[in-house]
Amino acid sequence: MSSLPTCSLQYDVSLQALNTFGVAARAAMLARVSDIGDLQALLSQKHFANLPRLILGGGSNILFTRDFDGLVLLPEFRGMAITHEDGDRVHVRAGAGESWDALVRWSLAQGLCGLENLALIPGHVGAAPIQNIGAYGVEFAEVCASVEIHDIALGTTRLLSREQCGFAYRQSIFKTPEAANWIVTAVDIALTRQARLRLDYAGLREQLHAQDITTPTATEVADAVTQLRLRKLPNPALIGNAGSFFKNPIVTNTVAKQLQLQHPALPAWPMPDGQKKLSAAWLIESCGFKGLRDGDAGVSSQHALVLVNHGAASGAQLWALAQRIQAGVQQQFGVQLLPEPMVI
Ligand SMILES: Cc1cc2nc3c(=O)[nH]c(=O)nc-3n(C[C@H](O)[C@H](O)[C@H](O)COP(=O)(O)OP(=O)(O)OC[C@H]3O[C@@H](n4cnc5c(N)ncnc54)[C@H](O)[C@@H]3O)c2cc1C
Repeated sequence: MSSLPTCSLQYDVSLQALNTFGVAARAAMLARVSDIGDLQALLSQKHFANLPRLILGGGSNILFTRDFDGLVLLPEFRGMAITHEDGDRVHVRAGAGESWDALVRWSLAQGLCGLENLALIPGHVGAAPIQNIGAYGVEFAEVCASVEIHDIALGTTRLLSREQCGFAYRQSIFKTPEAANWIVTAVDIALTRQARLRLDYAGLREQLHAQDITTPTATEVADAVTQLRLRKLPNPALIGNAGSFFKNPIVTNTVAKQLQLQHPALPAWPMPDGQKKLSAAWLIESCGFKGLRDGDAGVSSQHALVLVNHGAASGAQLWALAQRIQAGVQQQFGVQLLPEPMVI
């Protein structure tokens, strides 16, 4: 291993501090990667090349239900810089290992707009394209110009255009088998100097109004989003969680209509393809799961979509609770809830 100066390799590593659920799990091996050459050198050794691999960012969208008997790669590619301007679009390149919220704040400090609604989403830049992070009416896809990937199997690095990323609601090409050997190394995002603020998402205008702000700047929008998030979501530093545990289910318009006839209060939002996105939180709360606790595994009493670790819950206990919720919602509404985090 002496030929691997920066790919620091550790054996039998605790992952508890590396996942925001704070569940106990161990990795057989873990390598921090800040140089592609070092990664290739590591993986050129047969022993490492054949191990199961897992890429881990900030661990805020992952549930370990068991130990990982393989090699965990922690991308630590750094850097945030304006690379070029193209008309009114200012391109920023950010390394996969940077904190997402640090990128949001850095871009605002450069006078750049576009990321304000995505403030305070936990995790690293490299994970943003994976599930096409979204909040307060904006998704990563809208600012993404391209994503740089390294293909571990081929040993090549290339750029994927936004179109090639196949972004959809909490979905992208990076979640498909095609991307099994890819590691995101950097993203190129296109921002603007002129603010085009998106304030229509529920609660945002009210928050700005409460702060006596009528014509907000992009930074003030980011601050308002931050305040809202701190109020509405349990803080993983205080209680383990991975944000929303379930995706909002997407159903046909016909199914949505039938459900709304029986349950007029069920929120449903139109999707670009004519289908409807239902509120998973409403479905879960209606089944009586909000605030439920089974040992140290629980459903947040603040937000029905968030599973929480009250202390010493194992990943398997949290997953059992998630499955109980899925079964309850399926039975009561005939709707399938899918988990948002990666479940190991
Ligand atoms: C309190 C809280 C609030 C949240 N709110 C939101 C929200 O509003 N909107 C939202 O979309 N999400 C939200 N999340 C989920 C999470 O923050 C995001 O999905 C985030 O992008 C995950 O980043 P991460 O670095 O922690 O990824 P991880 O959890 O480490 O990894 C997530 C997935 O991405 C893969 N991955 C990570 N980095 C790379 C890489 N460089 N290359 C290839 N694959 C990679 C992993 O293998 C895994 O499959 C929230 C989570 C928490 C805890």
